[in-house]
Amino acid sequence: MKEKRRILVTGAGGFIGHHLVNRLKSEGCWVRGADLKYPEYENSAADEFAILDLRRWDDCLMATRGGIDEVYNLAADMGGIGYITANHADIARNNILINAHMLEASRQNGISKFLFSSSACVYAQSKQNDPDVTPLREEDAYPADPEPGYGWEKLFAEELCKYYWKDYKFETRSVRFHNVYGPLGTYEGGKEKAPAAISRKVALTPNHGEIEIWGDGHQTRSFMFVDDCVEGLIRLMASDFREALNLGTDRLISINDLVDLVSGIAQKTLRKKHDLSRPQGVRGRNSDNSLLNRVLGWEPAITLEQGLAVTYKWIEAELKQQGRTPKAVSIASGKL
Ligand code: NAD
Repeated sequence: MKEKRRILVTGAGGFIGHHLVNRLKSEGCWVRGADLKYPEYENSAADEFAILDLRRWDDCLMATRGGIDEVYNLAADMGGIGYITANHADIARNNILINAHMLEASRQNGISKFLFSSSACVYAQSKQNDPDVTPLREEDAYPADPEPGYGWEKLFAEELCKYYWKDYKFETRSVRFHNVYGPLGTYEGGKEKAPAAISRKVALTPNHGEIEIWGDGHQTRSFMFVDDCVEGLIRLMASDFREALNLGTDRLISINDLVDLVSGIAQKTLRKKHDLSRPQGVRGRNSDNSLLNRVLGWEPAITLEQGLAVTYKWIEAELKQQGRTPKAVSIASGKL
């Protein structure tokens, strides 16, 4: 009988890691999850789940022991724009430690492939000043001018992965996610991202009420549903591509339009109050998927309408269960 592939997913208590564990289990892999915490909204399907602090060298050795074939390194100290703007030192220090120790422990424990989860925050800020931004190609990360803290640390870890290939022939993959959203992700507390935060605000506001938007709402982004993200991760790991690769959609949308989309799903008409004192990040950011298409012969296909319907419905149901939604809320239908 063919041996099961043995996979380690770090950050398996978090949003993308949890979805990835589910997918790998459904494909018959043996999976170890590692994180500081268990998943918040659902039990993990992992065969083993280790509570570890991956900033610590010994914990990284523990995580990678026992004949693991592949590592998806998704553990990171991260959050939405408010969080990453306010915590440069902590985020950079924590993630440098996680990535450096996880790479070296994986190499020492004979892992065959290591995937690093990078971010579109590595892109040069000077190329993202216009809401109608030119989609970012992988080479636009240089000359380096990334997001302070979080972006610098991600860009450096991409370089570290390249050094491990050059010096040790250790197989690494680096993926630059562009705004991943979906159910079972953080939707409040400061670490949530825009689609989850907007869904929460829309769900908590009565029809014809007002919601607060960070910035003037003209800032633009592209958004990828988590199932597409997981598909892309598995395809990239299986490929022989060792350079950093975009993983996102190339449909640009303003935050104001995103709010209207979510309000439509919720069947509500809401007024927007713009708070210009809040951080809003770069003016525009989009993914150029030319290289992604060439390398993987694939790109994310789940539409924002489909993905947001599922996400909104999940967040609304969570809040409803806590007795926090206004009366007479109609739950939007929608399954992918
Ligand atoms: P998440 O915050 O939901 O998951 C990250 C997990 O890492 C958390 O469960 C956290 O507890 C864990 N972690 C943090 N510090 C740790 C430590 N010292 N030891 C062990 N575990 C630790 O985030 P996510 O959205 O699932 O992101 C996964 C990866 O993708 C991260 O590397 C993130 O930087 C990257 N990324 C995500 C997005 C996105 O839109 N979600 C965009 C760009 C990049």
